[in-house]
Amino acid sequence: MQIIPKTPTTKGPTDMFTGDVHFDVIAAGVAPSRLRVNIVRFAPGARTAWHRHANGQTLHVTDGRGLVQSRGGEVVQMRPGDTVYTPPGEWHWHGAAPEHFMAHLAMWESLAEGQEGPETEWGKHVTDDEYRTRQP
Ligand code: MN
Repeated sequence: MQIIPKTPTTKGPTDMFTGDVHFDVIAAGVAPSRLRVNIVRFAPGARTAWHRHANGQTLHVTDGRGLVQSRGGEVVQMRPGDTVYTPPGEWHWHGAAPEHFMAHLAMWESLAEGQEGPETEWGKHVTDDEYRTRQP
């Protein structure tokens, strides 16, 4: 058994996030595990840039009000207890609603041995216009 003390909080880099985003690493699996779990906290209006995960990603909202969108789809609200799965290679973004904080667990798997990278591919920032097209 291993008890791992809380890791320092990291500020989300500005080339990958808009607004104030911080995350803590909760789990970084030791091989053969490829488990990755972060808790990510978004200030109101903050969001990821467009991105996609080689092995998909599961989000689980723990607090606040969030938004998520897959490319070509509607902006969907997320609430505490909601779980959202984005399959491998699907472009998407996620973040807080305009007037609410939001926290979610982000769970994914790192690249398998011999799997071509990148683990997460980052694209353009989510513009204010894209962000504001959210559904009521
Ligand atoms: Mn994602």
